[in-house]
Amino acid sequence: MERSTYKITVYGTVQGVGFRPFVYTLANHFELKGSVCNTGEGVEIVLYASKEELKRFLEALQNELPPLASIDGVDVEQVALQAFDDFCIVQTKADAKKSVRIPPDVSICKACETELFDPTNRRYRYPFITCTHCGVRYCIIERLPYDRKNTSMRFFTMCKKCEAEYNNPLDRRYHAQPIGCFECGPKLELIISPKRLQKSSDEVIDHALKLLLEGKIIALKGVGGYHLMCDATNEAAVMRLRERKNRPTKPFAVMVRDLAMAKELAEISQKEKELLTSKERPVVIVKMKKKLSGIAPDISYIGLFLPYTPLHLLLLDAIKRPLVATSANISNEPICTNIEELEKLQDVYDAVVDHDRVIVNGCDDSVAMVVQEQTIMLRRARGYAPASVELPFKVKKNTLAMGANQKNTIAIAFEDQAILSPHIGDLNTIDSLAYYQNNIDTLRRIYDFSPQIIAHDKHPNYESTKVAKEFVATSEELKTKTVQHHYAHILGVMAEKKIQGKVFGVAFDGTGYGDDGRLWGGEFMVCDYSGYERVAHLKYFKLLGGEKAIKEPRRAALSLLFDLFGEETLSLQTPTTASFTQTELRTHYLAWQKNLNAPQSSSMGRLFDAVSSLLGVLQVMSFEGESGMLLEELYDKSVKEHYLFEVEEEAINTLPMIEALLKEKNTKTAVSKFFNTIVEMVANIYAPYDDLPLVFSGGVFQNRVLLNLLLSRFPKALIANTIPPNDGGIALGQVVACI
Ligand code: ZN
Ligand code: ZN
Ligand code: FE
Repeated sequence: MERSTYKITVYGTVQGVGFRPFVYTLANHFELKGSVCNTGEGVEIVLYASKEELKRFLEALQNELPPLASIDGVDVEQVALQAFDDFCIVQTKADAKKSVRIPPDVSICKACETELFDPTNRRYRYPFITCTHCGVRYCIIERLPYDRKNTSMRFFTMCKKCEAEYNNPLDRRYHAQPIGCFECGPKLELIISPKRLQKSSDEVIDHALKLLLEGKIIALKGVGGYHLMCDATNEAAVMRLRERKNRPTKPFAVMVRDLAMAKELAEISQKEKELLTSKERPVVIVKMKKKLSGIAPDISYIGLFLPYTPLHLLLLDAIKRPLVATSANISNEPICTNIEELEKLQDVYDAVVDHDRVIVNGCDDSVAMVVQEQTIMLRRARGYAPASVELPFKVKKNTLAMGANQKNTIAIAFEDQAILSPHIGDLNTIDSLAYYQNNIDTLRRIYDFSPQIIAHDKHPNYESTKVAKEFVATSEELKTKTVQHHYAHILGVMAEKKIQGKVFGVAFDGTGYGDDGRLWGGEFMVCDYSGYERVAHLKYFKLLGGEKAIKEPRRAALSLLFDLFGEETLSLQTPTTASFTQTELRTHYLAWQKNLNAPQSSSMGRLFDAVSSLLGVLQVMSFEGESGMLLEELYDKSVKEHYLFEVEEEAINTLPMIEALLKEKNTKTAVSKFFNTIVEMVANIYAPYDDLPLVFSGGVFQNRVLLNLLLSRFPKALIANTIPPNDGGIALGQVVACI
């Protein structure tokens, strides 16, 4: 049999996932000689084999991948003959080019969980037990290649036992960068301000447990930041957390020990179960079965998630009850990743369960829901970021997409890959802007990436736009591309679904800057990658007070009342008018008449707001999205009728609907008919274009009832499953606008 030497280059998520030991085992299995090593591009295998042996080896390579690995591509070339004594793993080659993927952080695996609770194991109850198949990745990495010295684990010197495991290709911990043990790895610490208490790991957990059972609030350092935690079954504790965090009604996420506990609290479908127990372990929004007081007042859905680190698991296993686990941050600011940041919340928590493994890259919990068997990502972060998205084509230039202003994420793209940052958040404060900049720097550093083109939103006042402009001013070679907000929403879905050709996009959203300088958000557009045509939109109405209208549904409602009744509105008896004083009503009327701080908008999100105000459901929001969630609660599927609307050329006039809605006696009927009207509206506008794929995007599609109705009516419609429908999905859309 004639043998030759082959060089095989494997691209994809192939580092830090046990790929080399896998190759080693495979080569030994086939009795092949050669070597394997990590490079800046991926993994390089040199194999001395016959053609037939090579073929079998490559098949097995693709088919028997380790759980966290994924292959984007394989190149094989024959090289000069080389002699080998055996098959060996060689040191990482330092290469200039960095297109290798960083695996996201992964929840604790079954094998580690078993060892965690095995009294004979040397890592019994070790809160940082991990192996090649699980544990932290993204949040500890400083740069590539993914070696221990390039992570925050470099501060820990391995003990003899750990080192032996680390160096044994047949061990589950071979080159598992974050490994450690009681002797050599990260340690827990309990802080009861201002004291740092010297305690053993079990003592820290026991103490935390005691505090939680007493109704106290603890801050606990997780993977990508701190959580604030309290006993979810203790109403007083939950209310105390609400009060201290100044968060009156926004639902809290709840961590449960296991699936059994999740099922006690909520109805869990098969698909939801898969998500809850997936290696990503996102928070999953599920229908509540048993009400936990104070967790999600007035809302029948609850966000549940399972412990994803050994530390969480030890705590939940001991306490045997659900715990509130909400990101430790000042509202709308980034998650706290170190103790200095956390100390700003000193008045919120009673103690801190801290540890000494540095979080290099902050990362929030991901949030998802299931609608009609489809996963809808509401926030893409831990577990998913920075996984890449394969694009439908190669980008011509290295692209950096700046995202929007709310729920911001950014993206970088090279060749046919886009790497999305985790959820960054709203860019409204100095700290959040610093965190934003940090995330940009992180992706650039890790991937050794320099952009050639910068894509940003059309809104001149978005912080992301300003940063883009500052950026471009630093270099003459850099180009910018301005992308309309709702077009970007639709493009994001097209990129994810790898659509070629035209689509009919429906962007139902909060507000985004339109081509005419008005605030769009109820848009119907025919799109392809080269551009779009806006074929219809909600008829413009004025947002009284501009930005203020986003927090106060009653402002959009009042504006629609003025459109309908003019000055007569001032003497109308409606929940909307009743929420203002006579003086306020007069001032608003003047503003409406004279267009004073009353920008025109076609936003579907604001229409939802208006309806919730007109029906007396909500006048002023205490958290974003509240009006839509409350309307969901009132939907009655036995109501089949809808209201009338008028299509006047491109503008959809909803005033006939508003007028009819005001006369409705029953709130539930009114809400249900409103939802049905939106479905009719989509059907009506889409009808002449129904040879094109129908694409839904925009923040309003986070509304479960609306999405459910629309997917029932249009089962083939496309909605994103890996990027959020909200502004978290904008960055991917901006990337593909740059071809
Ligand atoms: Zn493991
Ligand atoms: Zn050790
Ligand atoms: Fe948007």
